[in-house]
Amino acid sequence: MAHIYDDPAAFKDDMVAGYTSAYARYIEQVPDASAVMRRGGARQGKVSVIIGGGCGHYPAFCGVVGAGFADGAVIGDIFTSPSAEQAYRAARALDGGAGVLFSFGNYAGDVMNFGVAQDRARAEGTDCRTVLVTDDIASAPAGELTKRRGIAGGFCVFKIAGAAADRGDSIDEVERLAIKANDRTRTFGVGFAGCTLPGQTERLFTVPDGEMELGLGIHGEPGIESVPRTNATQLARRLLDPLLTERPDGAGDRVAVILNGLGGTKYEELFVLWKTVAAVLAEAGLTLVLPEVGELVTSLDMGGASLTLTWLDEELEELWVAPAETPGFRRGSVADLPRFEPASARADQGQAAAGTSTADDASRAAADTVRAALDAMLATAIEHETELGRIDAVAGDGDHGTGMVRGLRAATAAAGDCAGGAGETLDAAGIAFGDRAGGTSGILWGLLLQAVGRTVGNTGRPTGNQLAGGIRAGIDDVQRAGKAQVGDKTMLDALVPFTDAFAAGLDAGTPCAQAWSSACAVATQAAADTAPMTPKVGRARPLAQRSVGTPDAGATSMALCLTAAGPALATTEGEQR
Ligand code: ADP
Ligand code: MG
Repeated sequence: MAHIYDDPAAFKDDMVAGYTSAYARYIEQVPDASAVMRRGGARQGKVSVIIGGGCGHYPAFCGVVGAGFADGAVIGDIFTSPSAEQAYRAARALDGGAGVLFSFGNYAGDVMNFGVAQDRARAEGTDCRTVLVTDDIASAPAGELTKRRGIAGGFCVFKIAGAAADRGDSIDEVERLAIKANDRTRTFGVGFAGCTLPGQTERLFTVPDGEMELGLGIHGEPGIESVPRTNATQLARRLLDPLLTERPDGAGDRVAVILNGLGGTKYEELFVLWKTVAAVLAEAGLTLVLPEVGELVTSLDMGGASLTLTWLDEELEELWVAPAETPGFRRGSVADLPRFEPASARADQGQAAAGTSTADDASRAAADTVRAALDAMLATAIEHETELGRIDAVAGDGDHGTGMVRGLRAATAAAGDCAGGAGETLDAAGIAFGDRAGGTSGILWGLLLQAVGRTVGNTGRPTGNQLAGGIRAGIDDVQRAGKAQVGDKTMLDALVPFTDAFAAGLDAGTPCAQAWSSACAVATQAAADTAPMTPKVGRARPLAQRSVGTPDAGATSMALCLTAAGPALATTEGEQR
């Protein structure tokens, strides 16, 4: 567990401050962003490779920013995707005119947040592309490669993309090579002990004595199978068997290999394991090209290891062996890399000038209701924080409670600072929620609040029907970004029945507050009814079976928040449909 921290909620920011101070010779912070970039920032005419994800994986991701590797890394909270706003700021800062490649592990939260950032960057003329890392063979079968999540193999993909960008390849080439590297990279892992988040005393999951978890995730997600522990020789074979059976198309006999420690495993143990790994790979007729044994993609203090093979060809090998110089990884000498001049900082297009609000008095009064509702939602999220984390940890990563509290704290603060109408207040709250909560639920809750704000607008007191219409618009946005359907075991399984019941109540002539309250009973029941469901999207999907019997974390928090908001709506006088 972590012994060194001040405020656990500020752990990431404190870590970034210390890291940028220690390694100022390699990197600097992207101005006003939770991201770091190569010292000197964007290079004129050079593609920038921007990686990222939550923190807790050092040296992934910020530790491999530097010459020959990544140009920047966007840093989310522990095990939580960075927000769209932060990824966008990094892309803007690192646009040297030749394009930007985002690359990160295939997790719903990262895909949505980087996706929104990519759309924004493109709209401003940056040629922005995305390559997802999908190396974890335990997370989906070979026929469903695009469903696999990204774990330690990201190291090889980022290294190869970074080297291509540094020798001056075009964005098309860097993208092609990154895709190829990912297609030829496979990882399989084993866990002996779960990790502990800073400030917590319980491990995210425990492994029974005498057992080990095969196919673990790197966010505290437990493995797909618990098996009896074996000795090192048998373990090496157990990790290699599936990797050697699943040779990608076009694989030759030269491989880059990473034996990766997850944070709580000694290097000496890794070397004991490596002894057999190397022997078995040689038996299989493979030539190992600059293998790495050590901590490259960790999971806080998790006990365990993973083995990655990248099946090389001539062009991939040239990039894998190329020099790199970063705080967390060095290889060869970067003195001969092509020199690119620093790009002049782009003229700041700034945020849209905060125009003076045109909201009328009724809408300003309704903004007080919005603030009261958000305050009540924050109070319930704080009350249920631990429980929401526990539910999320059954098949996900255990961060849902902390994410909701972080998002709602930011949303209430932004709403408090907003002097406009109900629509503007909801918009500010949604932006702040998405930016601070990170993760899947962060961006989706942000989109939902913004859609309600857009629909209720800033004139007049919002009617019940406007509210219902706003939530429906929010559901559309959530589905557009997250591609989930009702029945997939997500927040939508509470929100959609809620909205149907609320709208039906209004149609039947029930007063707004009463219709809301009856719909909350429906949402609470619907959230509980998610327990027997199997998750079809999100972080819980690879461990779908474990989730059966436990309700969905996002549906549970949705029902709690809707219920908490009710009394604030009920105190509004003279409501109208
Ligand atoms: P993360 O999965 O990034 O750790 P959280 O733990 O905060 O994010 O939120 C998890 C919740 O997000 C899930 O319980 C589910 O309700 C919701 N969720 C996940 N994926 C989707 C999706 N594609 N659409 C709607 N909701 C989703
Ligand atoms: Mg989670």
